[in-house]
Amino acid sequence: MNAPTPTLEDNTKRLQGYLERFRKTGIQNLINGETLAGSGGASFDTHSPVDESLIATVARGDTSDIDQAAKAAKQAFQEWSNTPGAKRREILHRIADLIVERADEIALCESWDTGQALRFMSKAALRGAENFRYFADQAPNARNGQSLPTADHLNVTSRHAIGPVGVITPWNTPFMLSTWKIAPALACGCTVVHKPAELSPLSARILAEIAHEAGLPNGVWNLVNGFGEDTGRALTEHPDIKAVSFVGESETGSMITKQGADTLKRLHLELGGKNPVVVFDDAKLERALDAAIFMIYSLNGERCTSSSRLLVQKSIAADFTEKLLERVKNIRVGHPLDPNTVIGPLIHKTHFDKVMSYMDIAGKDGASIAAGGTRLGETGWFINPTLFTDAKRNMRISQEEIFGPVLTVIEFDTEEEALSIANDTRYGLAGYLWTEDMSRALRFSDAMDAGMIWVNSENIRHLPTPFGGVKASGIGRDGGDWSFDFYMETKNIAFATGEHRIPKLGA
Ligand code: NAD
Repeated sequence: MNAPTPTLEDNTKRLQGYLERFRKTGIQNLINGETLAGSGGASFDTHSPVDESLIATVARGDTSDIDQAAKAAKQAFQEWSNTPGAKRREILHRIADLIVERADEIALCESWDTGQALRFMSKAALRGAENFRYFADQAPNARNGQSLPTADHLNVTSRHAIGPVGVITPWNTPFMLSTWKIAPALACGCTVVHKPAELSPLSARILAEIAHEAGLPNGVWNLVNGFGEDTGRALTEHPDIKAVSFVGESETGSMITKQGADTLKRLHLELGGKNPVVVFDDAKLERALDAAIFMIYSLNGERCTSSSRLLVQKSIAADFTEKLLERVKNIRVGHPLDPNTVIGPLIHKTHFDKVMSYMDIAGKDGASIAAGGTRLGETGWFINPTLFTDAKRNMRISQEEIFGPVLTVIEFDTEEEALSIANDTRYGLAGYLWTEDMSRALRFSDAMDAGMIWVNSENIRHLPTPFGGVKASGIGRDGGDWSFDFYMETKNIAFATGEHRIPKLGA
């Protein structure tokens, strides 16, 4: 018999137990295996978006903390990159085991810290463990390159971990994203300095503790908390940090590119999106409806791959939108630890204000608010799921990343028009296509400006596949071997196989 699903009260009780120690000690940095306050003594407070209560005080790292962490990562690099892949695999699997052991704590803390519904955070915690397992198993072969023989030479390529790397993560699904970035770095022999988002620092601390407990040598994984403009900046400018893997807003990606220029930093940027879900009239409409709703209203719509623009063919638009509306009105907004909740509060007042500002913008630009558009309650940053209709492609609600539970519906007549609207934004992260016509699916996907396209499906990631965007959605790919390509240098060695003719100059 299955155990009953824990109630909001059960979840809250367990959460309080987990938070107790953070209240007592605050959230500290972890540098070279040591738990440390910020060296300058500075700290900041982190609050829950549910009720704005204080969760804990967080050490605020400064330039000297980043310097200390980068030096520790540099010091540890030689040994870690020379550690046999099989040993790295073993340690990474141990990290995954410990994540599974602490999955309840991770999910509850993440939910409380970010406002994301527990039902999704429980899965995200386990997904974090899978990320470690996947890259653990690739570790022994990470250095493999290719053999590219010619008549005179045997070319052997090999890959070598690039050095200490910086990982900078955002506040949306921070645990999952951190594992996704850090696991391949460690698997191929890099050492890491992680700067998590200031708005959601809890799970990064738990993860760093787990890594330490799993037996990672000191200095291999360092955690420095702080704000982007100083702590993050110092990390991107540090000469010992050879590459920075960044997930966040497009504008921040641009700043980081400038900041990293003097030290010629290798950068991987995973940025914003305004992803279209395109529904043609021959699609399986019930499935398309399920997927469109799931991809914008799960994870509070605070998701880079959310389907925030619905492009629907005119012949079915009225019917499809009506069904959408009925469903949107039934989506449950509430306490993220309530097992029935789908949408929790948005991360922070500033972000809430930004999302709410689009309600006015939509009206002024001539769109209609068919559902939502309002705050729920007076405490916490809850927004009712929102549906904009009568939208045109050039309106701000069709162009800008709102990053909340807000869907913009745009109608189209023909395939050409749909493609032109789909590509008419600065972004190009993901696209979703619904049609039973496979020639059209191929044609359309091939022409769509997006790094990832799902046909007749919601976003389901297969870990070995490439993840990333085009245009303002990013530079580079990760996933599978693409992650290793980023974190490693490729070297070619050409061996002469005989005594080929060498030009004799001056003879
Ligand atoms: P953000 O860009 O504001 O912050 C992300 C991280 O960068 C934080 O840790 C922040 O402290 C740090 N940062 C800020 N300024 C910095 C600077 N000058 N130098 C170094 N670090 C700096 O993003 P956010 O608001 O935390 O996250 C939401 C954004 O992330 C959305 O745009 C979303 O689409 C994007 N995102 C993209 C993906 C993807 O895979 N493409 C995944 C998740 C989120």
